[in-house]
Amino acid sequence: KKILCVVGTRPEAIKMAPVILALQQQSWAQVRVLATAQHRQMLDQVLAFFDIEADIDLNMMRPNQSLTTLTGRMLLDLDEVLLAEKPDVVLVQGDTTTVMTVSLACFYHRIAIGHVEAGLRTWDRDNPFPEEINRVLTGRLAHWHFAPTESSRQNLLKEGVSDADIIVTGNTVIDALLMTAERELDLGIDLDASKRLVLVTSHRRENFGEPFAHICRAILKLATDNPDVQFLYPVHPNPNVKEVAHATLGKCANIHLCEPLDYAPFVAAMKRAYLIISDSGGVQEEAPALAKPVLVLREETERPEAVEQGVVKLVGANFENIVAEAQILLDDEAAYRAMARGVSPYGDGLAAGRIVQVLQQHFSGELAPALQ
Ligand code: UDP
Repeated sequence: KKILCVVGTRPEAIKMAPVILALQQQSWAQVRVLATAQHRQMLDQVLAFFDIEADIDLNMMRPNQSLTTLTGRMLLDLDEVLLAEKPDVVLVQGDTTTVMTVSLACFYHRIAIGHVEAGLRTWDRDNPFPEEINRVLTGRLAHWHFAPTESSRQNLLKEGVSDADIIVTGNTVIDALLMTAERELDLGIDLDASKRLVLVTSHRRENFGEPFAHICRAILKLATDNPDVQFLYPVHPNPNVKEVAHATLGKCANIHLCEPLDYAPFVAAMKRAYLIISDSGGVQEEAPALAKPVLVLREETERPEAVEQGVVKLVGANFENIVAEAQILLDDEAAYRAMARGVSPYGDGLAAGRIVQVLQQHFSGELAPALQ
């Protein structure tokens, strides 16, 4: 059976890699990898790290293209790819424009879709950023919903998805993390071994502009007030991020700005960190498994589980909040320990195997076929 696995951006590649590797072990599965390369470089380094080669590469990235243009161009290319490849199943991961567009194209071609990391919701439909609607639309189109947690399963049930089509698997991000964390990792950056490290990432579109300026000012204040702590911030190349980050933080002695780190060095940085400040979805899932507290630079999250368990805290893009909450974790050991518990609500590292098992059972006729 031919399974086409789709990756568009760095987090999709990280989270799809364990599924691709697990499928490659299966004699019944012919695995094909489609890279839309919505983000180029950051995607390529992840595929290289996991020793995965794209069989088809749409190379979609163009400077400043609108989401409408990206979607339109991608749909046209996908028409040809799906006609030529004729996959039995297409697997997509997450909530990008790639995921939504591939799902729509598969629907037109009557090809079954498996959605990896299904059922995440903020329920905030007024948010103008596309992730929530990409997730919702993909959820309408998918045949298998591989939900990372019970609460994502509940979200799908609320939207009327049939219980039989939802499989709680855990998040494949933990599979990737555990596979990586057990290797010999080199951060590749000289840090002061005597100083605690605060790792920062921020490049979410909804923080561009004013919120990002507040975030940078808060990091600068923390670094200035805590000269005994070092800060590492891999800066995203988007000019909305890069220019502001370098202008605000570039001259502070204990803030190290660097290019985005490859996945393995980034995992090394998370392991070395005392505290993580981030607006990333993936980092919110990874850090609790490494027993690292995360202050999330957002007002809301589609990943509430770790917040409910008290190992991740939402601080918004609010200067006072960021400074106050980070300072507590730097000063108060009991408060720090309460967050650094090493409990992960996002999985046990075996999610990819569960996904493969569902597909295998489907093709061996043990389950009713999803598409008639
Ligand atoms: N990551 C990385 N290098 C970096 C920053 C993040 O490899 O410099 C990894 C991180 O481990 C996580 C993923 O990229 O798995 C998160 O990507 P991002 O924050 O861009 O997207 P999101 O998770 O918010 O969709």
